[in-house]
Amino acid sequence: MTFINSDEKPPADSERKPSTSRSHGSSEWGYDLYPERRGAKPQASFTDVLLGRKGRESYRKIDCERSVYRCIKTSPLVRLMVGALKSAGCAIDIRRHISCEECAPEVSGGYDPILNQVVICHNNTYREGMVQGVLTHEFIHMFDYCQNNLDFKNLDHLACTEIRAANLAHCSFVSAWLNGDTSVFRFKQTHQDCVKSKALSSIMAARNITTDQAVDAIERVFTKCYNDLEPIGRRIRRNSLDMHRAFEEGFYFGYDDQMK
Ligand SMILES: [Zn+2]
Repeated sequence: MTFINSDEKPPADSERKPSTSRSHGSSEWGYDLYPERRGAKPQASFTDVLLGRKGRESYRKIDCERSVYRCIKTSPLVRLMVGALKSAGCAIDIRRHISCEECAPEVSGGYDPILNQVVICHNNTYREGMVQGVLTHEFIHMFDYCQNNLDFKNLDHLACTEIRAANLAHCSFVSAWLNGDTSVFRFKQTHQDCVKSKALSSIMAARNITTDQAVDAIERVFTKCYNDLEPIGRRIRRNSLDMHRAFEEGFYFGYDDQMK
């Protein structure tokens, strides 16, 4: 699960205190965050349409689909993940496995293991850079589900894949985090703290559990999962050539970036 973290809007994951409980409705899966998954079409009020606040869903969906297409064609990181998924026997079909949808305001994307589908929230993901981040994050979950027999009902498995997604996709790109997230882990703010904090907010949004339960799960699996850099092979540093290097080296791991 990915949370909004952009310059224009305050990051919802660090805004929302990890200890704050939120209603998950009847779902312990977090799917109430993705109303279109349950067939509910968001209704726009006449005032919202008149003021231009709503009624733009179809435009946003088209923009989102265009961004997805461009990321798949041009982003080295996304192409690396697409190649890795194909090598793992889980080739991506862009129309079947990626869906642009309207979601709850606090999420920017998700992975639906039942349909094996990545959701990009077009109402919360404005820029291509964000789409790239969400795609990479959710493709890590898809990769783990395909390659590592991930069981999303197992809290340790969930913690592991969220640690990996935060590590490989999120924390290297988000400098904003270093400017003031209050970590429950209380050490010096490092890349590892970013990963723990990000994984914690993702787990708390997906499961109706206590902060302590989530923190315990993260600590149980952290070393193993933080050091598992498959399939990217390195932690990407912001504004570096690492993204391109990882993509070029993907060849040596047998990843093939051809789309079907
Ligand atoms: Zn996630």
